[in-house]
Amino acid sequence: MNETEFVIGVDLGGTNVRAAVAKSDGSLTHEPAQNPSFAQEGFDRTKQAILQTIQEAIRRSGVSENAIAGIGMAVPGHVDAETGVVRWAPNFGVKKGERFEIWHDVPLAQAIQRELGKPVHMSNDANLAALAEYMYGSGKGTAKGLILLTLGTGIGGGVVLTRAQVQGNAFWDSGVLLVGANGGGGELGHAIIVMNGPQCGCGANGCIEALAKRDAIIERAIAKMRHNPKSLLWELCESDFTKITPRLISEAAEKQDTLALEVWEEIGTFLGVAAATFINIFNPEIVAIGGQIAKAGVPLFNAIERATRDHAVPSLYEVCRVTPAEKLEEAGVLGGAALALQMSRAKRN
Ligand SMILES: [Zn+2]
Repeated sequence: MNETEFVIGVDLGGTNVRAAVAKSDGSLTHEPAQNPSFAQEGFDRTKQAILQTIQEAIRRSGVSENAIAGIGMAVPGHVDAETGVVRWAPNFGVKKGERFEIWHDVPLAQAIQRELGKPVHMSNDANLAALAEYMYGSGKGTAKGLILLTLGTGIGGGVVLTRAQVQGNAFWDSGVLLVGANGGGGELGHAIIVMNGPQCGCGANGCIEALAKRDAIIERAIAKMRHNPKSLLWELCESDFTKITPRLISEAAEKQDTLALEVWEEIGTFLGVAAATFINIFNPEIVAIGGQIAKAGVPLFNAIERATRDHAVPSLYEVCRVTPAEKLEEAGVLGGAALALQMSRAKRN
């Protein structure tokens, strides 16, 4: 077997599809190729966009097609990795009259595999971001388990398990993704931490996503401002609530605005309680936290760490490091590549 093995990582997003050829150490040969994903124009159009982007990535890399062992794809939605079927993807579909018909049970992996004659593996994008963070980020490919939370419009997450965390019949090396019985596992954002809390998009109440997503942070700041006319945020937003963003809250926090610091303290506490729950279940060495909201930095992370320490079982907390995620820029592409590498090695062994 050729020592230099190449795979292709593909990140299918609602706006763009990106693809790059990766070496076996996870480094990309070139910047990813990128094209619009035509998510609203039906399956065939999106499939063509994916194929075209993969071909461009191969051309750009100069690697011969024969040297490519497989393709790994990150897809935003519920993906059944076993069958390569996208069960449900809310950003993708086609307009039927007035109605937007979203993807249901679309055999995407097979369709790409048929065209390219290479094995194609898929997983949910948040899960693959966790695998990328494990292999090439803070997990360094060796940590005994990693949990990733990504903070943004919603809260995504993933769980990477290692042989060290299970007892019995496990023969895998390095980290593997928890995907669950039908591919829907690892929905960390929907861990419920407040009974009868605010309603979440998933239908339940009090999920960590409902409490700490971008809009919830903004609403929390606005609610506090109504009782706090002296907050610096009034000046920064020019008394216009529509101008409040997590960035602006951080700007105020940097200037030691009490209200802004309180917001990050409270959001960090929610996240820390959720992280403690995950630590108690999975006993990972790393809890990585990424996404746009994680840019709030020190005030947020201090609160997360404190709440994690206060709520996790001490002997489990002891071995765990809470850290900003390192690999989020190309997480989908890298996670796809990591999955493709893992699958091609599993086949060989
Ligand atoms: Zn939820």
